[in-house]
Amino acid sequence: MTATPPEPRPVQLDAMSPRERRELFLALPKTDLHCHLDGSLRVSTVAELAADRGVRALAERLGYRLPSDTSEEHLGKILAPGLGCQSLEEYLLPFDIICGVLQTREALTRAAYELAMDAAAENVWYLEVRFAPQRHIHPELSGIEVIRAVDDGLRKAEEETGGKILTGILICAMRNYHESIGDYHRRVRGMFPYATSRELGSLCSLAAARLAVEAKRAGVSRVLGFDLAGAEANFPPSHHREAFSWCIDNFLDITVHAGEGYGPASIQEAVTHLNAQRIGHGTRILEEGDGLLTYLRDRRVAVEVCLTSNLQTKAIPSLDAHPFRRFLAEEVRAPLCTDNRLVSNITLTDEYELAWRHFGLSPKEIRRTVLYGFKAAFVPYARRRHLLLAAKARLRELGLGGQWTRAEEEAFDAWKRGAAATA
Ligand SMILES: [Zn+2]
Repeated sequence: MTATPPEPRPVQLDAMSPRERRELFLALPKTDLHCHLDGSLRVSTVAELAADRGVRALAERLGYRLPSDTSEEHLGKILAPGLGCQSLEEYLLPFDIICGVLQTREALTRAAYELAMDAAAENVWYLEVRFAPQRHIHPELSGIEVIRAVDDGLRKAEEETGGKILTGILICAMRNYHESIGDYHRRVRGMFPYATSRELGSLCSLAAARLAVEAKRAGVSRVLGFDLAGAEANFPPSHHREAFSWCIDNFLDITVHAGEGYGPASIQEAVTHLNAQRIGHGTRILEEGDGLLTYLRDRRVAVEVCLTSNLQTKAIPSLDAHPFRRFLAEEVRAPLCTDNRLVSNITLTDEYELAWRHFGLSPKEIRRTVLYGFKAAFVPYARRRHLLLAAKARLRELGLGGQWTRAEEEAFDAWKRGAAATA
């Protein structure tokens, strides 16, 4: 029988030392719902892979140009461009180097494993990793092998942490078609020389959707959802309607990058044409008034907030211009996410600290932001509920409020025993 524990002391963030505050943000039970595999490698791993002869030879055969200086110092500078980055397009450049070294099963498994281990080390209890399989497909590696390789890495991390982290996979389609995206896209162009880029974009996203569903059918149960990523301007969500219909028909959940590189129309299309349950970024949501924000709030469509990434891509000129404060005030589900741990040079703990510092979050608002992440997770209901209850108990233990309940305490006890994975 679980006894009622004494009431924890409520935290007073302003009265804490910077170290105590950092420890609190680190200890928060967190979710990261928007995290790109290829933007979140360890720089040491990219350096090691880029120096490997076999990896380099394959990358070159596939048309990637890897830098000749593969030192961590040099790669750290070019892969994490910092706030000097001028646009979304410039922000996306490091991905060409990183994708160049991620063309083997082993590299993909390692990248996924290390990402999940790094996330678990900062108390991310639930992580959804997203990537575009088509950027890793070539004559020696099929789409399903790419997905299985990532799945293997995530499974290994779940096992090694004793179930302290749960993971899911989101398959990305690219919203823009261009031969430079990779070998797969070049070969598609070769097969359809007279097709327009728009036609090929729709064709590739539908093929990505078919692959996602196929992986799920083949038993890769971590495949939970589908996303649209890449350059946003000139490539509206409606071009990809067929791909998303296929995913919805086959019970995959939907999130869409929107309102980052383009205005509210992109968000509107994501929810009305593609049935998005979550929006990635949504920074430009308020440009035409409050209507869209109200719509998202009322339907519990979550917005995955990536503060540092938004500053780097110049989606917002400063944090003052970010709608996060409005999201909090209007109770829009807006969990904090990293986007790209390496390219933005951040952890999720950093993002909580930044949000607290800039927006002056109260303990209640921190609690709410954390819980939004668990509520908006695509993991099946029983596990989602279990994680949510356990997170509530942990938040209460940390002094962030909430009422004691037996169900929460029992879920937290089970989580401590590593039972979340089997809930
Ligand atoms: Zn993203």
